[in-house]
Amino acid sequence: MGDRLELIKSSRKGQGEDGHSGMIGELRGYMFYFDRHSNNGERLYWNCMEKKSKKCKGRITTDLAFMVTKDDNNVHPNHIASAAKVEGVKAVAGMKRRAVEVMESTTAVVEKTRRDISVAAMAHLPSKQSSARYVRRWRLQALAAPRLPISAEELVIPEMYKTYARQHPSGRMSFLAEPFLRYDS
Ligand SMILES: [Zn+2]
Repeated sequence: MGDRLELIKSSRKGQGEDGHSGMIGELRGYMFYFDRHSNNGERLYWNCMEKKSKKCKGRITTDLAFMVTKDDNNVHPNHIASAAKVEGVKAVAGMKRRAVEVMESTTAVVEKTRRDISVAAMAHLPSKQSSARYVRRWRLQALAAPRLPISAEELVIPEMYKTYARQHPSGRMSFLAEPFLRYDS
C-alpha cells in the first residue's frame, strides 16, 4: 500500500469514453490494464495484462490519482514480474508517440526505437516489419481521427483505407482498433 500505479501511455484503443479506457499501468514489474471504475466513480479497477495469456486473476484497485487502495488480489501465480517486458511496452508506446508527432520516415521511427532499448526488452518488441506496419497504421489512425468526413467528395481517402473498406463492406477500420499487444502474449 502507499504505492502508485505508474501509467504507461498506451497505444491500446479503449472502447469507453470515460477517459480511462486503454490505459496501462505498471506496479513493480507487473502491468495492469484499466477495467472499469466503481459506481461512485472514486475507484479504478485494474486487471493484470496477463489475464488472458496466463489466465492471471491479478487485480488491483486505485483511487483517481492512481494510488493503490486495495492490493490483496495483486497475486500472479502463473507468471513473474518482468522489467524487460515493461520496458518493451513503454518502447512501443514511445514509438507510437514518435510515429504520430515526429515527421520522419517509418524506418527511422522503427530504428530509433530499437536503438534505444535494452537487449532484454528487445525480445518484447514486434519485429521490424511488424513495427513498420504499426507505425503506418498509427499514422493513418491519427489522420483519420480528428473529424468525420462531410461528404465523399470532400474526403481524400488514403489508399490503404480504400483497400480495407473494399474487403470489409462495413467500412469500419477495425484493424486499427487491434491492440498492439496481441502479438505479445
Ligand atoms: Zn498477473
